[in-house]
Amino acid sequence: MRYIMALDQGTTSSRCILFDREGNIASSAQREFRQYYPHPGYVEHDALEIWDSQLTVAREAMARLGVTNRDIAAIGITNQRETTIVWDRKTGDPICPAIVWQCRRTADYCTQLEREGLTNFFRDRTGLIIDPYFSGTKLRWIFEHVDGAYERACRGELAFGTVDSWLIYRLTGGRVHATDYTNASRTLLFNIHTLDWDDEILSLFSIPRAVLPEVRASSGSFGQTDPALFGGPIPIMGVAGDQHAALFGQVCFQPGDVKNTYGTGGFLLMNTGDKPVRSTQNLLTTIAWGFDGRVTYALEGSVFVAGAAIQWLRDELKLIDSAPESEYYATRVDSSGGVYVVPAFTGLGAPYWNAYARGAILGITRGTSREHIIRATLESIAYQTEDVLRAMRGDVTFALGSLRADGGASANNFLMQFQADISNTSVIRPHCIETTALGAAYLAGLSSGYYRDLDELSLVWQRDREFAPQMEGNTRAVLLNGWHDAVRRVL
Ligand code: ADP
Repeated sequence: MRYIMALDQGTTSSRCILFDREGNIASSAQREFRQYYPHPGYVEHDALEIWDSQLTVAREAMARLGVTNRDIAAIGITNQRETTIVWDRKTGDPICPAIVWQCRRTADYCTQLEREGLTNFFRDRTGLIIDPYFSGTKLRWIFEHVDGAYERACRGELAFGTVDSWLIYRLTGGRVHATDYTNASRTLLFNIHTLDWDDEILSLFSIPRAVLPEVRASSGSFGQTDPALFGGPIPIMGVAGDQHAALFGQVCFQPGDVKNTYGTGGFLLMNTGDKPVRSTQNLLTTIAWGFDGRVTYALEGSVFVAGAAIQWLRDELKLIDSAPESEYYATRVDSSGGVYVVPAFTGLGAPYWNAYARGAILGITRGTSREHIIRATLESIAYQTEDVLRAMRGDVTFALGSLRADGGASANNFLMQFQADISNTSVIRPHCIETTALGAAYLAGLSSGYYRDLDELSLVWQRDREFAPQMEGNTRAVLLNGWHDAVRRVL
């Protein structure tokens, strides 16, 4: 029996899952690492802690199953996106802390770029909006603030990478400096049409090409691991950013196939086929994956607060003791009784993009109960998802497929049914909701010959449950009107 190893390097923890051929989890291990907040709005990681934790969990997962490198067909890597690391090519040591995607330190510079009228320039080339979220301005910050970094980068002594590149470099003992199309497409430096780093952007940010990784297909070879790490070499055969890997892991292979990850936030990605779609609805255009000599594109919209609203019910309002309890209370009433919760705790994400909005509970009457508020909070997750889906429908000419759900809150049957009702689409929850790791395993499995083709993966992927829409059109329209009214008030 041979396995595929998925390395899932997330924002708060590093995980390793060994999958068998049927896509079952044969073994796994997980380890958290430290978050650093040196100033308000700053978020950093120690890249060496990321590496140590990732290596440790990989060895742990192997030890639990009692396997050696010869039992692992290939490694697939999936990672927190946009986080920016610069290291010394010779020693492999980072020259400064990793700047995490959440870090807002380049907000002023981004505002300046917007004022200079560069929004369309960046959108046309990178598919992205100008925001501190993406790596480019973080890398520029490092060159401006770390002594000698720019000069050393120009001399070819330093390497830049997102977390995938960093892990590949370390895993291969410094032999490979590469990334994949999905991670490159989140840097604000990569031209998603020419599929190369954009020279004009590089010169605007004063970033020397010599520091950048080589960009490769998401499914393909990234070298062999250093034999000293796992008792012998293992080929690294797949790499993708976490949301892209989840789209692949949900076998969303056709244009219109769409997934939402109901985690702390909500992350929707829709496959748009072999042409990038320029959004008129405030969505991002991104590369879904590079596979089989071609690039597939996607539209992306993120909801800032999804499952986090349930944590708020639990930790701040103390209306529930655990997240799963929300389902019980929501189903004790047959509607939210006209109550709407808009969880704009940190502004609103796609398609509104308003950083200043704050949350509200609207429509409270003398009869409003705890159950109504809990139900309305769960419903808000579905409404926000529907707003992104509607934006996606507005951007493309083809029909959207059923919605594939994963992430912690997808376990909530009430939420899944309400989503199906409010979006008038069927919602499918897969058997394995570790779709991010699964996607990385699929990408690695395809290029290593472990899996034959996409059709075989569609057979391996199994649904747990499908939720069909049952709500009447009128009811849906009335509820959505109420929601949009509530959002307008919050904005
Ligand atoms: P992340 O990867 O973003 O940390 P997860 O995918 O692990 O998130 O999902 C955790 C989130 O899901 C939490 O915000 C939690 O409140 C929510 N959650 C977990 N179980 C349920 C449930 N049964 N009903 C509603 N929300 C849930």
